[in-house]
Amino acid sequence: MKTQQENMSCALNLAIKLIRRESPTPEDAGCQTYIAKLLAPLGFVHTAVDVNGITNSIYTRMGEREGVLAFAGHTDVVPTGPIESWLYPPFEAVVEDGILHGRGAQDMKGGIACWLAAVMQLCAEFEPLPTLQILITSDEEGDSIDGTIRIVEYLQAQNKLPDAVIVGEPSSAKLVGDTIRRGRRGVVQVRLTFQGKQGHSAYPGDADNAIHGAAPVLTKIASLDWGEAADGFPATSCQITNFNAGTGASNVIPGTASGFLDIRYNPQNSFAQIQDMIHDACHGVDVSVDFDHVATAFSTPDGKLLDTVCDAIHGITDIHTNRDTGGGTSDGRFFAAAGVAVAELGLTNSTIHQVNEQVATHELDTLTAIYIEILKTFEV
Ligand SMILES: [Zn+2]
Repeated sequence: MKTQQENMSCALNLAIKLIRRESPTPEDAGCQTYIAKLLAPLGFVHTAVDVNGITNSIYTRMGEREGVLAFAGHTDVVPTGPIESWLYPPFEAVVEDGILHGRGAQDMKGGIACWLAAVMQLCAEFEPLPTLQILITSDEEGDSIDGTIRIVEYLQAQNKLPDAVIVGEPSSAKLVGDTIRRGRRGVVQVRLTFQGKQGHSAYPGDADNAIHGAAPVLTKIASLDWGEAADGFPATSCQITNFNAGTGASNVIPGTASGFLDIRYNPQNSFAQIQDMIHDACHGVDVSVDFDHVATAFSTPDGKLLDTVCDAIHGITDIHTNRDTGGGTSDGRFFAAAGVAVAELGLTNSTIHQVNEQVATHELDTLTAIYIEILKTFEV
C-alpha cells in the first residue's frame, strides 16, 4: 500500500504535466493523448469523439464490479489575463511552499490529476472496480457546443451511458469536500424588441413612443412572481440586464427600444412556463420576443450517489458536506438531461479564472483520497 505522501506526489506530478500543456479554450495541447498513454496500461480503451476542432475523449475500462461510474472534466483553461501580473509564469506549474501555481491548477487540471491518481493507485492494488469512464473535453470554458454534449450523445447512441457521473469541477469553498453541487439553475435569455413610430416630440400624435410601450412591460416583468423555489435551490431570478432606446436627440420620440433579460431558474419553473409568463407580460404591446434556452436546470435527488460521495468525504475529512445548487451552469446539465445522476466534487475555487490561479498541494492529496473512497464504495 502506498503512503499518502506518494499519492500526493502522483496527483501533483500529473497536475504539473497537464498545466505545462498550454491549452486555452478550445485547445487541448496534447493533454488527452497524454492521458490515453497513462491509462492504456491499466486496460483503458481510448475513443476520440472530436467535433469541429474540439478534442473530446472517452476512456473506458471494463470493471470487475457491477455498475458504470463516469468522471467528467475538461482540459481547456480560460485565458491568462495580463501575463506580467502573474507571480509565476502561468504554464510553468511552479510548486513553492506547498502551493502549485498555474492556469488550471483549480479549474480543473488539478481535479483531473486527482481522479487519474486515484484510478492508477487502485488498479495497481488490483482493487475490484466498477466499469469506469473518464470523459474529457476541451470545450467547457468556451461555447460548450461541441464538448461534453457530444460525448453524451455518443454514449447515448452506443447505449453506454453511465449510471452516475462525478464532475470534477472545483466545487469546494474553503476546504476540499465542504461543498458538492447536486444541481444547477437553468439559464434563459430573452431579447425584447419594442416597435413604435419615430417622430417629433412636439407632435406626439404623429408618433408612437417605443419607450412608453416598453416601460410598463418591463415593470411587469421585473415584478413577476416565479413561485416557491425548488427544494435546496435559490429562487428564480429574472434580471433586466440591458435597455436601449432613444436617438440621443432631446426632441425625437424613439421608434424602437430593446431590452434584454437574463433569467436563472430553479427546477420548479420550466422553459415553457417562462416563455408563457414573458409572453403574457408582453400582451397587447408591439414587441418581438426571442428566447434562448442557454442551459437546462437540473437536480440530482438525495439518494445513493450523493450519499456515497458525502460518506467518502466524511470518512476522509470528517466534514459534513453542503449539497449545494449555487453558481452558474455546468456541463453536469448534459448528463442530467440524459438521465444520469450527477455530483460535482472537486478542489477549492478561490482563484479560478483569476490571475495567479493556485492550489495547495495537500488539497490534491485530500481529493485523491476522497476519489479513491468513492471508487471503492460506489454501488448502483
Ligand atoms: Zn471548469
